[in-house]
Amino acid sequence: MNKKIYERPVLRKVVEGIPNKFGSVKRLQPIETIDNVPIDGIIEKYGSPVFVISEKTMRETYRTAHRAFSTRYPKVQFAWSYKTNYLDAVCRIFHQEGAWAEVVSGFEYEKAIDNGTPGNKIIFNGPDKSDADLIRAINNKSLVHIDHFDELYTIIGLVDKLKERPQVAIRVNMDTGIIPQWDRFGFNYENGEAWNAINRLLSNGKIDLIGLHIHIGTYITMSKAYATAVEKLAALANKTYDRFQTSIGYIDVGGGFASQNTLQGAYMLATDTTPSFDDYAHSITTAMTAVNFPNNETPMLILETGRALIDDAGWLAGTVLANKRLADGRRSMVIDAGVNLMFTAFWYDHEIYPVHESSFQSEPTTIYGPLCMNIDVIRKNIDFPMLNKGDHFVVKRVGAYTMTQWMQFITYRPNIVLIDEKGEVHLVRKAEDKEVFRRQELVPEYLQNK
Ligand SMILES: *Cc1c(COP(=O)(O)O)cnc(C)c1O
Repeated sequence: MNKKIYERPVLRKVVEGIPNKFGSVKRLQPIETIDNVPIDGIIEKYGSPVFVISEKTMRETYRTAHRAFSTRYPKVQFAWSYKTNYLDAVCRIFHQEGAWAEVVSGFEYEKAIDNGTPGNKIIFNGPDKSDADLIRAINNKSLVHIDHFDELYTIIGLVDKLKERPQVAIRVNMDTGIIPQWDRFGFNYENGEAWNAINRLLSNGKIDLIGLHIHIGTYITMSKAYATAVEKLAALANKTYDRFQTSIGYIDVGGGFASQNTLQGAYMLATDTTPSFDDYAHSITTAMTAVNFPNNETPMLILETGRALIDDAGWLAGTVLANKRLADGRRSMVIDAGVNLMFTAFWYDHEIYPVHESSFQSEPTTIYGPLCMNIDVIRKNIDFPMLNKGDHFVVKRVGAYTMTQWMQFITYRPNIVLIDEKGEVHLVRKAEDKEVFRRQELVPEYLQNK
C-alpha cells in the first residue's frame, strides 16, 4: 500500500445548507458597482481584468486610522509604506492626507522624491541601501533606519564627506510574543546587539540618533505585541539617555496591522476577528503613555501601516473564461486573473463575487486563474453560484501587495484605474503591451533576421 500524502488539517466554518450555529443559509450577493460606478462599464472601457482603486475608501480608512491614534496620543505621524502599493496616485493621496513616505530601496526613494515628499519626511528602511543611496538620503536630511552593522560602518565611513549630519534611527528586533519572531532585520534587543549598535553610533559623535524603530511582522492580530515592543524600546531610550544624554525624538512601531482578508485555514472570517484601528491604537498609546521616557519627554509616535490602510480600497474585476468538471466531479471555474496578479491568493481566501445575479444555486467550486501552471489557484474551495463564460466577477480587498508584488508571467499586466471622490474614473497605470517588452529586450546581432 502506498503511503497516503499528508494533507494539512483545516477547520472550516460551515456556511451553506441547513442553518448551523452561525445562522442560516448564506447566499453570495452580487456586487454590481464600486463607489456607484458600474463594474461592467469599467471592464468595457479598460479591459478585463482590471484593478480598481477607490479614493473614497482610501481617505476614509486613513482618517479612521489617524483618528484612532491622534485622539489618544499627542504626536502621531503616519508614513506610507511604499512597497505595499507604490502607484504614484495612491502615494500622493496618502501624502495629501499627511502621511510621510516609508521606503525600502533606492527605487522607492526616487518615487517618494518624484511624488514631492520633502527629504526630511522620507523614512529609509530595509537591508538594501547602496553607498549612493545613503549619501543622497543623508544629504536630503532623510531619516535613515540602520538595519545592520555593515550599514552603520558604511555611514561612519562616509560621515566626513557628507553635507549634513546623518539623522538616523536603528531598527530593533525582539521577542514580543509573536511567532515566528522576525530577527533578520535590525539589531536584536535581548542579546544586547541593539545597545551595542547605539554605543558605536553615538561614540562616533558625528551622527544623530533621533529615533528607535521596530517592525514586528505583518498581519499581527495580537495588538498587545506592540505594547511589549514599546516597553522594550522605551527601556532602550532610557539607557541611551543615561549614558549619552541623548533623547530619542520618535518611536516608530512600524506596520503589520492585519487587514480584513481571511487567512487560509482560519476558522472565523477576518471581518469578525481582525482588531480595529482603535484596538491597535489603544494598546500602543496606552503603552506609550504608561512608560517613562527620559526627562518626561513625549516622543513622536510613527506608524508605517501598509496593508490595513489600502487593502479595502483595491478591487480586481474580470471575466469568466470557462467552467469545467474535474476528475472527481467537483466544479471548477477558470477566470482571467490569477496568482500573477494576486500573489496574495497563496495565503488569503480572497472574497470573490459575481457582478450580476446569475443563479440561485451555488456549489463548491475551485476557482483557477488563466495561467498554464498548476499552482494558479485563486480559491481552492468556495461555494459559488454558476457563472457563464463572459460573465463578470469582482474580487474584494486586493489593494495591498498585489499591484507591487504582481508578476509579468505568461501574460501582460492589466490597467489600473482610480475612482475619485466624485465618481470619475481615471487610468493610473497603463496595461503592458508588446511594446513594453520590445523596449526592454535586445536581440544580439547574430540572432536578427536580415
Ligand atoms: C512592509 C513594511 C511595512 C508595512 O507593513 P504592513 O504589514 O503592510 O503594515 C512597514 N514597515 C516596514 C519596515 C516594512 O518592511
